[in-house]
Amino acid sequence: MPDGFWWRGEVGDGLWAAFTDSATGNLALHVGDDPAAVQARRTGLEERMGVMPGSLRFMNQVHSARVGTVAAGDGPAAGTGPELDGLLCPDAGIPLAVMVADCLPVLFAAEAPDGGWMTAAVHAGRRGLLGGILAATAAGLVRAGGTGLQAWIGPSICGRCYEVPADLQAEACAQLPALRSETSWGTPALDLAAGAAAALEELAVRVHRVPGCTRETPELFSYRRDPGCGRFAGLIWAAA
Ligand SMILES: [Zn+2]
Ligand SMILES: [Zn+2]
Repeated sequence: MPDGFWWRGEVGDGLWAAFTDSATGNLALHVGDDPAAVQARRTGLEERMGVMPGSLRFMNQVHSARVGTVAAGDGPAAGTGPELDGLLCPDAGIPLAVMVADCLPVLFAAEAPDGGWMTAAVHAGRRGLLGGILAATAAGLVRAGGTGLQAWIGPSICGRCYEVPADLQAEACAQLPALRSETSWGTPALDLAAGAAAALEELAVRVHRVPGCTRETPELFSYRRDPGCGRFAGLIWAAA
C-alpha cells in the first residue's frame, strides 16, 4: 500500500521533511484540475503529516528568485499564496510546501537562536537557480539568526534527461559550471541537482540529496514526460 510519499524522514528533533508522489496525486490548483479535488488531496496530506487542516502553506510560483517570510498569526493559508518561489518560516510554526514537476524542490532547515527550528521551501528550476534563489534563502535564514544550515534536494529531472539548447547550456554553465551535463542520447543538458548542490556547498550549507529522476519515474510527475501532468510537493514541518 503506497503511503503517498516518495521519501519522508525526521531530519532533526521534531522536524520532518518529505516529498510526495503520484499516489498523493496532483496538489496544484493551476494545472486545470478540479479545485475541490485538489483541496481534498491537500487536506488528506495534512492529515498524514499530522498538521492542522488548512495550515500547509503553498506559493503561487513564478520562477522568480523571490523569498517571502511567513509567520504564525498570518492566518490560514489561502488556496494560492503570494507570488514567490521561496517561503521561509523563522520558527517552523507553519508547514511549508513547494510544488514541482521536473524543477528542483529544495527544503532548508536551520537552528533558531531560541533552540528551535527555522525552515524554508524553495522552487529551484533553472531560472530560480541562476537568479540566486538558494543564496537568497540562505541569506534570509542567516539574517533571521539561523545557524547550522542544511538543505534537502528532492527529485527532479536528472542531468541525463534535461536536454537544453547548446546556447542556453553555455550561458547557464558560464554562471554555474556544475550544471553542465549531457543527455543519455548525447546532447547538451543541465543537471539541476548538481548545480544546486555546488551552489549550496559554496554557501556552507550542509547538503542531503534525495534521489529520483521525475522524467524516468512514473511515480513522480514530470512536465517533460507529460505536459498535462500535476505537481507533487516538497514539504518541511515541525511535528505538532
Ligand atoms: Zn518550475
Ligand atoms: Zn533522468
